[in-house]
Amino acid sequence: MQLKGKTAVITGSGRGIGKAIALKLAQMGANIVLNDIPASDTVDSTAEEFRREGYNVIVTKGDVRNENDVEAMFKAAMDAFGRVDILVNNAGITRDMLMIRMSEKDWDDVLDINLKGAFLCTRAAAKIMIRQKSGKIINISSVAGVMGNPGQANYSASKAGLIGLTKTTAKELASRGITCNAVAPGIIKSNMTDVLPEKVKENYLKSIPLGRFGTPEDVADVVGFLASDASNYVTGQVIHIDGGLVM
Ligand code: NAP
Repeated sequence: MQLKGKTAVITGSGRGIGKAIALKLAQMGANIVLNDIPASDTVDSTAEEFRREGYNVIVTKGDVRNENDVEAMFKAAMDAFGRVDILVNNAGITRDMLMIRMSEKDWDDVLDINLKGAFLCTRAAAKIMIRQKSGKIINISSVAGVMGNPGQANYSASKAGLIGLTKTTAKELASRGITCNAVAPGIIKSNMTDVLPEKVKENYLKSIPLGRFGTPEDVADVVGFLASDASNYVTGQVIHIDGGLVM
C-alpha cells in the first residue's frame, strides 16, 4: 500500500478527519494538496507540521462550492506536482435542526458544500485522471446518509446524495481506469461530534457493537486502502467505518 510519486488532493484538510487522511496518505508516500476555506489559518499550521516531518505538501485555499476556487485548486496541484492521482472529497459541514424549523439557507449551505462541492471537485479531478488513465476518488459520506438521523434532513440528504454520486462516478469512469468509492463513518471523535450533548453520545455508545466511538485515524486507514493499488478491483462501494452501528 505505497503511494510514492502519487499526488492526493484532500478537501477540508486543515483539521479533523481530513487532516488525519492527509497525514496517512503522506505517510504512504503521496504528495499532498491540502485545502481549506480562504479564511482558515489552521491549514497553514497543518502544512507546517507536514513540512517538519519532511512530507511534500502545498496549500490551496478555496471554497469547494465555488467553481473558480476548485479550478484554481487543481491548477495549483498540477503546477506543483504535475499530476493528480487521488481525490478525497472530505469537506463537510452540519447545520442541524428539526426539519420543520430548518431554514432554506441551512439546507442550501449543507447541500452546496457537502454535495455540490464534491461534484465540482470530482469533475475537475476526472478531467486530469482521464488523461492519466488512472485515478482514485473517495467520497466521505456518513451513516446518516444511509439510515437518516432526526435533525439532519440537510446533512443526511447530502450524504445520501454522495452515495449516488459515488456510484455514477464509478460507472462513468471505470473504463478510464478510475475507481470511485465512498466511506460512511459513524460517530467519529472530532469537532463535529464534540458538540453533541452527553446524553446523545451515551445513547449512541449503547448502539455501537464495538463499544467505542471511532477516531479520525480509523477513517484514514480505510481511505489509505481505497487510495492504494490494494483496492484496484473495488469500485462503486460504500464502506462503513462505524464499529458495527449499521449492519
Ligand atoms: P470538521 O472538523 O468540521 O472539518 C471539516 C473541514 O472542512 C474543516 O477543515 C473545514 O474548514 C472544512 N470546510 C468547511 N467548509 C468548507 C468549504 N466550503 N470548502 C473547503 N473546506 C471546507 O469535520 P470532520 O468531523 O473532520 O468531518 C470531515 C468529514 O467527515 C465531513 O464530510 C463530515 O461530514 C464527515 N463525517 C464526519 C463524522 C464525524 O463523526 N465527525 C461522521 C461521518 C462523516 P474550517 O476548519 O475552516 O471550518
